[in-house]
Order: sequence, then C-alpha cells, then structure tokens
Amino acid sequence: MVYSYTQISQYLRCPRSYRYRYLDGWQEKETRSGMAFGRCFENALGAYFREEDCGATFFKEWGAYRDAAFEYKKGETWDRLLHQGIHLLETFARDNRVRIHDPHGNLQVKKHRILAGGSEFVAYLDAIGEVDGVPCLIDWKTTTSRYPEAPEGLLSLDPQLICYSWISGILEAALVVFVRKHAPEIQYLRATISEEQRQEFGRLVEETTINQIEAGHFNPHSGIRFPQNGCVTCPYLGLCLRNDHLVAANLVRKAGASNLDWLDELVD
Ligand code: SF4
Repeated sequence: MVYSYTQISQYLRCPRSYRYRYLDGWQEKETRSGMAFGRCFENALGAYFREEDCGATFFKEWGAYRDAAFEYKKGETWDRLLHQGIHLLETFARDNRVRIHDPHGNLQVKKHRILAGGSEFVAYLDAIGEVDGVPCLIDWKTTTSRYPEAPEGLLSLDPQLICYSWISGILEAALVVFVRKHAPEIQYLRATISEEQRQEFGRLVEETTINQIEAGHFNPHSGIRFPQNGCVTCPYLGLCLRNDHLVAANLVRKAGASNLDWLDELVD
C-alpha cells in the first residue's frame, strides 16, 4: 500500500472520513474556486521559475474555469481571482526572495520511503530552493487570510512541514503564503524542524495511523466542541447523516480504493 501526507492527515482528522474517501471511493466534487485557483497558480509559479511567461500560463490555466459552476465567496468572481493571481505573480517577481536552482529537478520533487511493514510513503515537495538565501524545502499556499506568525516558532509545529522534513531529511522549511485579500500579500515564513520532531512524526505515521488503518479501525472522531466540530465543514456529512440530498450535492463516487490514491498529495 502507498500512503501520503494527505491520507495520514485525513485519518487523523476523522478515521470515518478516511474510510469514505479511500476505501469506499467517495470524493468531494470540485465546487470550491479556491482549490482550482491554487492549482492554476502553482503551475504559473512553475512557469516563472522556468523563465516562461507565468502570466500567460496563469491566464490559460485559470481561463479553463471561466464558465465552471464554482461557489465563489462573497465579493469574488472569476475576473477578480484572475486579477489577484496576476497581482500576486507580479509581487512575487518584484520581491525576488525565492531561488530555485535547476527548476526542472527541484519543483514537485518526489520523495519516498519504505516503512517497517513494507508499505511505502510518498510525498511531493513543492520545491527545494532558497528563501532569503537560506536553503530549505518550500511549500506554496494560496489562501484568503494571513497565516498566524506569533508566537515565535509556531510554524515549526506545522504537521505538513514536519512530514516533508521527515521524508526528505531537510531541516529548514519555508511556507510561501499567497494571500488573496483586497490588497494581495505574500508571507515568507521559515521554520527549523528538529530531529526529535521527525522521529515523532515517523512514529505517528507507523504506530498511530497505518497500524490502525490496516487493522480496519475507522471510528468517527470529528473533534467535539462547537464550533470546532469537524462535522460542520466535512464533505462527508451527508453520508454520516444518511442525507441523500447532501450526498448528491457534495460527493461523487468512484469504484473502491485505488493504488493511486496517494496522488491526492499533488493537490494538497
Ligand atoms: S461528518 Fe463528522 S463523523 Fe462523519 S466523516 Fe465527517 S467528520 Fe467524521
């Protein structure tokens, strides 16, 4: 079996949702504009580092969704997101704080690891390069609100960065956050991941998660306290409530589990 960070985080968020997605084959319909925007924008970043016309790449990619039936947040439109994307690309180029040497080899870098039980863990690092002159692994994020920066060190607890540090052995990590707000902004956030954190993450993967998955333990566990209860925003709510209307609105079903499920990692 091949596992990815997306699978592990889904199991930790709620084991029942993992079962719906990876065993029963239910997938969330793509109705959120932000996810498609993020994919298009990351492809444009790739073009930027390959010294291609990143604005044209973004226009072409995002143009494919011009007539898509997305749910836009209040005040958002396809046009508005197009302008935000172009503005963010221009700001990123002006800032000039990120370097990727050999972009063909150091963007979407595949890392894998064989686990104790023989399963494989696969991750795709968005980039390996330098932020403000510091060599590090890099994750791009597109979002509508700023990432919290305080207290100092908060980012070193980010589980996705810890995962990527664990699988790559790279200690220094950075999040480059593209914030789609009224005046678009870019955050360049760095963290150092310790050896102890990497070892703990390895145990979390193998002992707490994969052992439980392979033992068939998929109890619902959504978090409890309103409004943090994960059920409120869970795409699988219709299945848990046996509400056919909600299921039809949010999900599509493909046939069972697939050895290629780890490819979800590429859009996370
Ligand atoms: S609705 Fe709640 S219990 Fe059901 S899968 Fe989602 S998070 Fe888990």
